[in-house]
Amino acid sequence: MTVELQSNDFIALADIALSNPDLQHAVGAGTRGAYASRAEAMFAHGNEHGEFMRRQAAEAKRRALRQLPDLLETAERNLLANGWGVEWAEDAAQANQIVLDIAARHGVRTVTKSKSMLSEELGVNHALEAAGLRVVETDLGEYIIQLNNETPSHIVAPVMHKTKDEIRDIFIRELGMAPTDDAEAMVAFARKMLREDFLNADMGISGANFLIAETGSIGLVMNEGNGRMCTSMPRLHIALVGIEKIVETVEDYATLTQVLPRSSTGQSLTVYTNILNGPARTDEDDGPEHAYVILVDNGRSEIFGTKYADALACIRCGACQNACPVYRSTGGHAYGWVYGGPIGAVLTPLFVGLENATPLPHASSLCGSCKQVCPVDIDLPRMLLDLRWDQVRAGQSKVGWDAAMKMWAIGMTSPTRYALGGKAARAGQTIMGEYMPGVLGNWSKHRDFPDFAPKSFRQLWKERKHVRP
Ligand code: SF4
Repeated sequence: MTVELQSNDFIALADIALSNPDLQHAVGAGTRGAYASRAEAMFAHGNEHGEFMRRQAAEAKRRALRQLPDLLETAERNLLANGWGVEWAEDAAQANQIVLDIAARHGVRTVTKSKSMLSEELGVNHALEAAGLRVVETDLGEYIIQLNNETPSHIVAPVMHKTKDEIRDIFIRELGMAPTDDAEAMVAFARKMLREDFLNADMGISGANFLIAETGSIGLVMNEGNGRMCTSMPRLHIALVGIEKIVETVEDYATLTQVLPRSSTGQSLTVYTNILNGPARTDEDDGPEHAYVILVDNGRSEIFGTKYADALACIRCGACQNACPVYRSTGGHAYGWVYGGPIGAVLTPLFVGLENATPLPHASSLCGSCKQVCPVDIDLPRMLLDLRWDQVRAGQSKVGWDAAMKMWAIGMTSPTRYALGGKAARAGQTIMGEYMPGVLGNWSKHRDFPDFAPKSFRQLWKERKHVRP
């Protein structure tokens, strides 16, 4: 299924999510659990150690981004030397065409895929299926949502929005599983189904958590081992790699693989931490005969060199989603595209155009939790504010909002008007109580309007000065 762009419908989609009790339960439990595990894992050896790891990881990514064009050339040279085929794709259409061409050249009919957010962004499954190929997602979460014709709702845990009972019902309906409430039995059932697909696939598609320039390798971290099956069992492997995934050295990869699992699942290391160096060598029995890396831009070079360039440092750990009070309430689908949560609220407008994701920069209380938990210290709240500024400059803000801000500015730029405004507001509240009139009532519908203090600060100050000795 391709992700249909619906980001301008954020409010309506959030309403749907808020009235779904199963989703509320599943996302609430999932994000709270991941948030707590992250804190435990990051600071298991003390706050200083945790903060040091973050600083080191942030610097590794920034150093790579500062040299992005040069490192990409180095990576290409070293990838080719390792036997990878290397292709460059400017956008989604070109990336999908390259995948289709490679598949056609190698007579591919069946494809297994490991989890890749970039592939969601590109709509690779849709392109392959439209060409008559069979594609099977092999990450358990992705497998479930593929069966249910949905898209991922979380960067790391794509099926976070579903309860165990819902997953059981999907397996019964789509795969004829014998009814059971035992989660282990469900996993064992799925594993058995997937085993056949692994054995029969002509081609495996993976993403890459990192592209290591100095060795011409890709770094892949995972817990289920499905990525290893996708990248080593079929005769052909394609890795889809966003150009921002570059890191300079293996040491940087080692640094980043310490913070990525800690931030995402609360593990000090993922179960499988891989470095892939291309197709099988002549003296190796296992591994693909052919391996390709497709380096995908799809809007990233437009972000590079702007005030949003830091967003390219994201290592897709999902910690900002787990920490965000908005995401915790709505889940990921409300954001209306591939990436949800604070990083989605920044990346989506940058990738699809601010006018196509107008509500997202406002889908934040600016509490700062996202920046606080980010393992590479991306200042997401600052970027959300900058995006709001860009909207105002582009004339995209709402008429009512603009009018309210103008009124606010009029009141705040004159001491007399400010004092009068305060008096009027106190008088108004005495008449209206806790409900605000007209459109402002949308705000107080779900919240108590706090009481104004009976006396303003200026009044209190005046009185205090008066009683001073
Ligand atoms: S912005 Fe930071 S916290 Fe959010 S997914 Fe990216 S790396 Fe993780």
